[in-house]
Amino acid sequence: MNAVDASEHYEIGTNNELAPSLLTIVLDTNPHAWALLEESLPFSKAVANILVFINAHLACNYANEVAVVASHSQRAAWLYPSHSQQNGGRDSTDADGDIEMNGRLDDGTTNARSIDHANKYRPFRIVEDQVTCNLQELLAATSISDVSSTTSTMMAGALTLALSHINRQMISWSDAHGGSELDTSTATATGNLLPGAATSAASTAASTSAGLRSRILIISVSSSTNSAHQYIPIMNSIFACQRLHIPIDVCKLSGDAVFLQQASDATRGVYMSLAEPRGLLQYLMMAFLPDQRSRRHLVLPSRVDVDFRAACFCHRRVVNIGFVCSICLSIFCESPENGDCLTCGTHLELSDYGARPAVVRRKKKKKARVNGASAAATPTPTATPGP
Ligand SMILES: [Zn+2]
Ligand SMILES: [Zn+2]
Repeated sequence: MNAVDASEHYEIGTNNELAPSLLTIVLDTNPHAWALLEESLPFSKAVANILVFINAHLACNYANEVAVVASHSQRAAWLYPSHSQQNGGRDSTDADGDIEMNGRLDDGTTNARSIDHANKYRPFRIVEDQVTCNLQELLAATSISDVSSTTSTMMAGALTLALSHINRQMISWSDAHGGSELDTSTATATGNLLPGAATSAASTAASTSAGLRSRILIISVSSSTNSAHQYIPIMNSIFACQRLHIPIDVCKLSGDAVFLQQASDATRGVYMSLAEPRGLLQYLMMAFLPDQRSRRHLVLPSRVDVDFRAACFCHRRVVNIGFVCSICLSIFCESPENGDCLTCGTHLELSDYGARPAVVRRKKKKKARVNGASAAATPTPTATPGP
């Protein structure tokens, strides 16, 4: 009879094309952190490296897409595609709405740069022009007071922008190509937030077999401790990515990254903290270029010692041990006033928390020794702190 063909097939739907992959880069443009990196990796060089990496991603598949969000000190902004203005790049239009040919500028002189770019692959040129143009605008719009008022970065806002863009692209892709959104919805419906071995294989297959595959790459330079006040929105973004099977890759150039380690761990992305920031391009090309489909065949750099600390909801401090509301799971560094949860308002029974423990004398037991081994190995139960 017909032999069953168990080999893997990459065909999708009606056509035999590979599903494209959408790479969303969140670039941390925090001026404080980049100033500290100036010696080893100037910002301009980092941007040039990232543009090469973007070109490599676009070259993998003609339908591959890219998006770049800047996580600045005051706000998160789009670098590519430009959402603020329709023609963010150099394709400036004249009064009739036509695009200027041959790079002629307003004063009639020829734009030498456009001629240089004449032979460049068009998608490369558009991304490069828009990213550099928008980045210059963003930096020019940053005032001294903006920089001096905060040292953190708007990571939560940037992640939210990235997620909303991915969601829109996924919907429009499945509208155009049909049927692929089912895979995501069924995988989500099972609610396998922390999938086991069997379910994870199934969900990975579902998310990679069809549909637009998306991933987020965060190029981070800021410390997370400064952005502890964004703990809740960052964690919400992470959980959204986990549900949508969007891996968050983190390329850490400097600073500590408590929440970003959790982000890549929860979404099964790649986390790399670069010992040598000068080698950014090499790390990007080797560790972050493969998409979800290729990653199934690779041994990825993974992290074992993930920092799972959380920030308390009352002061946004990063805490090792805290109180957790039994209703809404909010975390507090100290017992809330009157025992009322600050998030949901539930009155929490703290019973006699904080009271001095009554010291009871332990009865002396005869030490029973079996074959020389101590039998007093039973751990004494310790009281869990509060509700
Ligand atoms: Zn607190
Ligand atoms: Zn609560």
